[in-house]
Amino acid sequence: MKCQLCGLEFREEEGQAACMGCPVSRSCSLIKCPNCGYEVPKEPGLIKKLKRWKERRNETQR
Ligand SMILES: [Zn+2]
Repeated sequence: MKCQLCGLEFREEEGQAACMGCPVSRSCSLIKCPNCGYEVPKEPGLIKKLKRWKERRNETQR
C-alpha cells in the first residue's frame, strides 16, 4: 500500500509494526506509515469490491 502523505510504498506488516506502541494495536484498524507516521485506514477486500460494484452500477444507470 502507498502512504497518501509522503508517497512511500510499504507493506501492511510494516505499518502494523510501526503501530506497536499503540495500546489498542490488536484492534487498531489503522496502518501507520513507517516513514512519516501518517495513519492510513485499512481497506478490506470487501469494501474494494463494494466500491467497484457501485461504480459499475452507476455506469449502467446512465
Ligand atoms: Zn508517509
